[in-house]
Amino acid sequence: MEPIIRTENLDVGYHNRAVISDVELRAMRGQVICLLGPNGAGKSTILRTLSGLLAPVSGAVQVEGIDLKKMKKKDIARKMSLVLTDQVAPSMTTVYELIAMGRTPYTNFLGKLTPEDQKIIDESLETVGASAFRERFFSELSDGEKQKVMIARALVQEPELIILDEPTSHLDIKHKVEVVRVLQKLANEKGITCILSLHDIDLALKGCQIVLLVHNGKIVSQGTPEDVVRDGVIQQLYEIRGAQYSELFGAIELKGREGNDIFVTGGNSSGIRLYRALSRKGYGLTSGILHENDADYQVAKSICGEVVSEKPFERICPENARRAKVLMQKARYIVDSGFPVGTENRENLTLLQEALAAGRQIWSVRSREECEALYGNKAENVCTVSSVTELFEKLETAG
Ligand code: ADP
Repeated sequence: MEPIIRTENLDVGYHNRAVISDVELRAMRGQVICLLGPNGAGKSTILRTLSGLLAPVSGAVQVEGIDLKKMKKKDIARKMSLVLTDQVAPSMTTVYELIAMGRTPYTNFLGKLTPEDQKIIDESLETVGASAFRERFFSELSDGEKQKVMIARALVQEPELIILDEPTSHLDIKHKVEVVRVLQKLANEKGITCILSLHDIDLALKGCQIVLLVHNGKIVSQGTPEDVVRDGVIQQLYEIRGAQYSELFGAIELKGREGNDIFVTGGNSSGIRLYRALSRKGYGLTSGILHENDADYQVAKSICGEVVSEKPFERICPENARRAKVLMQKARYIVDSGFPVGTENRENLTLLQEALAAGRQIWSVRSREECEALYGNKAENVCTVSSVTELFEKLETAG
């Protein structure tokens, strides 16, 4: 199949100086393709060159095999439309009027709309979910509404390709999702190819079929998100320091302070909110013993200074139990996250029981009844808390 747009030995940039060299792109019909990379990496420069706004420094952009340079403006407009970030429109222009302007490549020189044009405009408004504000002034819309309108405007050009530069910037989460859903719908139902840049890494990796990672003057890799974005790739691409990006969760975890202030037992996701809350408060954390397939482990290894872990589905081995005991003994406070106790992690309960037997105090998110059932007469040394705020207060009182 012929790509809708492809590049040939393309270098893009300004004043004959390449910002990105060797841009290799083959965009097929119905693909949603996203450029990812830090600010200033060159994403806009690539998109502007693909759309014909900027001439290549060298090489060529071909649309269905024809060099973009050799195409007439009107023919380009029938093949592709461009949606830029900061949309400006003449004041006192209604949504309908603005979208109607997108029909220019098809209307006669008087710009008169035929019933067919009107039908296309109505359908485009419907597709992006903007029919409700068709009569409102564009300047009075919210950013999210404006973005939908600009996509509708691009759509009435009946393009085979839409290029969008950061279409979700300034939008809240609901509108970000809506914009990506609209692009997916255009690609899947109408076979329109969408090439865009996004700052929302998670949304890009979940919503786009192909990603191109742009960094240090080149496209460092491209392919499906699952093939391209392996562990540590996003961390490197954006040169993130002081935090870890989890490809598994599509989320950032801020690294905590090193130190032995609190040992948190975890398991079955019971530790996550404690790691985040206690680390935010400035405590240096250690944790264990976490199974490596547990969500707690993924978060703890980003936040905590030290974590003792066990292989998935294996019973905690004596060596790991010993290592955790050492960490627990070093910690000023011990927090029991309320993990469910089972055969594989019973040693965590044993550790807490031993700590109590040795005279240590424990802060636990379990109910008093549960603590009595698990810790017997030693439960009197367990300080139960029902919220993070209460835990903070009680730790502070303990001094
Ligand atoms: P991104 O979209 O990834 O944030 P850009 O494509 O906007 O990055 O910018 C890439 C590089 O090109 C930056 O170093 C930027 O300063 C430079 N640049 C952007 N626009 C121009 C311009 N009009 N003239 C010269 N250099 C520019």
